[in-house]
Amino acid sequence: MASVLDNRPALKAQIDKVAEVAGYLWQKGWAERNGGNITINVTRWVDEQMRSLPAIDGPRPIGTVLPNINGCWFYCKGTGKRMRDLSRAPMENGSLIRVVDGGAAYEIVADAPVRPTSELPAHLSVHDYLLSTGSSFRAVLHTHPIELVALTHCRKWMGKDAATHMLWSMIPETKAFCPRGLGMVPYMLPSSVDLAEATLSTLAEGYDVVMWEKHGVLAVDNDIIDAFDQVDVLNKAAQIYIAGRNMGFEPEGMSDAQLRELTVTFGLPK
Ligand SMILES: [Zn+2]
Repeated sequence: MASVLDNRPALKAQIDKVAEVAGYLWQKGWAERNGGNITINVTRWVDEQMRSLPAIDGPRPIGTVLPNINGCWFYCKGTGKRMRDLSRAPMENGSLIRVVDGGAAYEIVADAPVRPTSELPAHLSVHDYLLSTGSSFRAVLHTHPIELVALTHCRKWMGKDAATHMLWSMIPETKAFCPRGLGMVPYMLPSSVDLAEATLSTLAEGYDVVMWEKHGVLAVDNDIIDAFDQVDVLNKAAQIYIAGRNMGFEPEGMSDAQLRELTVTFGLPK
């Protein structure tokens, strides 16, 4: 089947990264059924010929008005689609959309009329926020990492930066590669406006990874590989903590002085 990605290697490379990450999510057990969502802002890889392509579906209202992303293009996982299928066939399990009508609506342009994730308003709100701050981040990932979700079932770890500090102290790379830590959002109904707003305000506090209590994470970064890496690094730290508990002891964790030394030596933000 002909694809808009044919003869557009730079754009295809971005979609290939999404497919690669979707495979990892499935392999890790973080993407049961149609769980999780990925959207990436691909505007910079869209050429003039693509801009003139007609819509194959829409316009449809986003449900909110997002002026900063008006005219922007996104690859979005399709609603009800599985990550494990997306990893093999990204353009059959997702689509390229463009935002129109001043940021109030979207059109599907290619390859097939696959309706975007039901979380589209929340994801696009995050992209709109990122552009408004001048951020270079173009990827938004939502997934269900087992050990990180398990942590949120304990009140102790839902306190501000309690989980961050514990996770950072498990292995030095966690603080180096997830230097802003893990923001916590109390339980809210999935897909709700409240959850989207709480996520935006937590990102605005300076976190790149936001934990939704008893649900999953939302991570933002330059591209989808980097967003995945942040979640992977944090979940690895949670696994080390759990391994220690399973051996029958409370893991000691690196000391505050050792964590401070990392901040100073590597010029970390926190
Ligand atoms: Zn979810």
